[in-house]
This record gives sequence, structure tokens and C-alpha cells, in this order.
Amino acid sequence: MESPTFSHRNEFLCFGAPDVREPEIQEVVETLRSGWLSAGPKCRKFEELFCEYIGCEHAIALNSCTAGLELALEVLGIGPGDEVITTPLTFCATANVIVHRGAKPVFVDVERDTGNLDPQLVPRAITGKTKAILPVHLYGRPCAMDELMGIAKEHGLYVIEDAAHATEAWYRGRKIGTIADITVYSFYATKNLVTGEGGMLVTNSEAVDEAARIRHLHGLSRDAWKRYSEEGFQPYDVVAAGYKYNMMDIQAALGIHQLARLEDNLKIREHHWQAYDEAFAGMDGITTPQQVLTHSPCGQTRHARHLYTILLDYDRLKISRREFMNFLKTENIGTGIHFTALHLLSFYRERFGYKRGDFPNAEFISDRTVSLPLSSALVRKDIDDVVNAVRKAVALKELPTYFVVSQSS
Ligand SMILES: *Cc1c(COP(=O)(O)O)cnc(C)c1O
Repeated sequence: MESPTFSHRNEFLCFGAPDVREPEIQEVVETLRSGWLSAGPKCRKFEELFCEYIGCEHAIALNSCTAGLELALEVLGIGPGDEVITTPLTFCATANVIVHRGAKPVFVDVERDTGNLDPQLVPRAITGKTKAILPVHLYGRPCAMDELMGIAKEHGLYVIEDAAHATEAWYRGRKIGTIADITVYSFYATKNLVTGEGGMLVTNSEAVDEAARIRHLHGLSRDAWKRYSEEGFQPYDVVAAGYKYNMMDIQAALGIHQLARLEDNLKIREHHWQAYDEAFAGMDGITTPQQVLTHSPCGQTRHARHLYTILLDYDRLKISRREFMNFLKTENIGTGIHFTALHLLSFYRERFGYKRGDFPNAEFISDRTVSLPLSSALVRKDIDDVVNAVRKAVALKELPTYFVVSQSS
């Protein structure tokens, strides 16, 4: 749709464009031609490289982060009657898996400045039924892990990290993935490392690794690729009612090359992040993430720069968030909301009785947040287009007439 008064880019820019390049395309094609499509040598190689990158002992390649979180809860023995403390400001998968296990997600409010689980509020949510804490490194910013691990230790709880946003993150000199009992990553299409669908469960515990590895593939005592190895057919046993949660070699082919470029891609996103920060500094009507404090005064805490989110200041703006996002869409800029706080969603309200007012900080962010495009696939011109579109949006006194027409068409 063209407008005489508002020029905009011609191509739609989605908020989390995957950055897929020639080496992984080649490797996927080669995998298809190899005759080995499902879990096999490329998955094992991806796991090894991932362990090396994180600096952890064990990694299991999975078909999603969601699967990994559920597996984590199961192998730690979390089930009916148990409670798991987590954040309401996350994707529904984080809490859904707790429900799948028959356990109760106990939400605890977030820090308003970081959006991460507030460790100060965690102790009072602990009951005799609490088994684990499940923090989410929101947008790529590491949670206050020292505090959370301390609370867990004191109360004998497990810590499972949802690191869907935080593959590259560090916390006070330690890599995310080496601190908690289990850490799970996502390689979904919009994430920093992309395999289309995919995830990785990592741990330093041999027992956890073994239990999860068995259950991620039907409960078989041996991996399928070992069963059909050169040594010939090996009979297998089933030692648990396992799941079908394995990654495919086709996905691992993508992952191996995505992993190799992960640090370079982070530098590109850091660059884009800074460009946004500079362009939006002092812009009336929005708050940028750099204006919020990080909780860690210590060095070597690294943000994985997954999502660049602004907060809308409704006292200054003349339009709603929906109008803001729809206006950006007419400018061919895609946006997202990360996230609508889970306790505001029907299922969580109806099943557990959560309601608006329960978690004021999560609600504050949930009501105002807008994610702008951020990806290493973007170039400076894309970032400039976003900035220009946001500048126009915050300056709107009311919606332009063409916008109203486009909304009804
Ligand atoms: C994307 C995401 C997940 C789920 O990842 P999948 O790989 O799609 O299962 C879980 N938690 C958070 C915070 C996410 O953003």
C-alpha cells in the first residue's frame, strides 16, 4: 500500500529474520544426499561442538527447547503435586511443560528494570512442595544466578534454566549452561542460532545426561545410530516409556554452521543494538532497554542480545500499542510482543486462579513492550528504516487517514 505522505521500505522486515547462509545450505543438501536424515553423526557432531562452545560436559540435541524443558523436569523427578517456581514474563512453553508434568507453575514477579525473575521474591514462594526454580534469561540478559543458586541450595531445590534467548550469555565470568543443574536452549526459526525447529539440553551431571538421553529417543537403551552402526545390528532394550524428542541430522547440519558463526553474529547484533540505542536516546514516548539497569555490577556478564524491546510510554503517546504496531506494519516493519504475561492468559487464569494485579512488574512490561527487528541478517539500512518508522509513530498525534482506510480493507 502506497501513501503520498509516508514513504516506507518496500520489503517487509520481520522482527526475527533467520540468518541462513551458504555453508549450512550446502551441508543440508549434502545430508539429504548422504542417505542419513534423522539422528545420526551430524547430531553427535553438533552436540560435541556445542559442549565445547558452552564448556559443559553433556549436550543432547532435541527437536525443541520445549521438549528439553519437559525432559529436564521429568529426569529430575518432578511430577504431580510438585511446584516449580518460574516467571510469568516468558513464552507459554516455559510454564506449559510444568503443567504437562502434572506439577504447578508458581509464578513470582520479575524485576521491573531487567524483566527477570526477582530473587528477592523467590523465598516467600517456596513451600514444602517446591522442587525447582525455572528462570528465563529474558531477551538474552542473564538472571541473577548467584542469588537464585544460593536460594536453591539453601532449600534443596533444582535449577533448570530456560536459555532459549541466551545461548551466548555469560554471568559473572561463567557461561550460561555451566551454572544450573540443567540448561535448555532453543534453535527455533527466530532465535539466535537457527535450525528451523530444535533445541539442546545441557548438563554437567552424568546421571541426568544418561536419563535424558534414554528418554529423548523412546526410552531405548541405545541410540538408533548405534544400533545400525558398522558393528552390525545390536539388539535394543526399552528401559523407560520415552519420547520422540530427537533432533534430525538435517537440522544439525544447519546448527553446526550456525554455531560456527554465533559469536560473529552476536557482534553484528550488538552493533545494531547500539545503533538503536543511539537513535532512540531521548526520543519522547519510548523507553529503550539501555536505560534500564543491569543487575550485575560485576564484569563479564554478557547479554546475548536476542530481542531489542522498547517500552511504550502511554502518557506521552497519542496511540495505543496495537495502533503503534499496526502503523509500523504499514511501514513494512514487523514487531512482536515478548511477552504477554502468562498469568493474564485464559488457561493460567482459569486453571490456577491467577489474575491481573498478581504480578505488577510483569504486567507493566507485558502491557508496554514492543520488540523491534533484530537479527544478524539485517543491515544498517534496515535499522535506519526501523528508526524512521518508530520516529514517525511516536510523533503521530492521531492515526493518518490512509492508515484507517488500510485497516478496514
Ligand atoms: C522460544 C522459546 C521457548 C520455546 O522454544 P522452542 O524451541 O520453540 O520449543 C521457550 N522459552 C522461551 C523463553 C522462548 O522464547
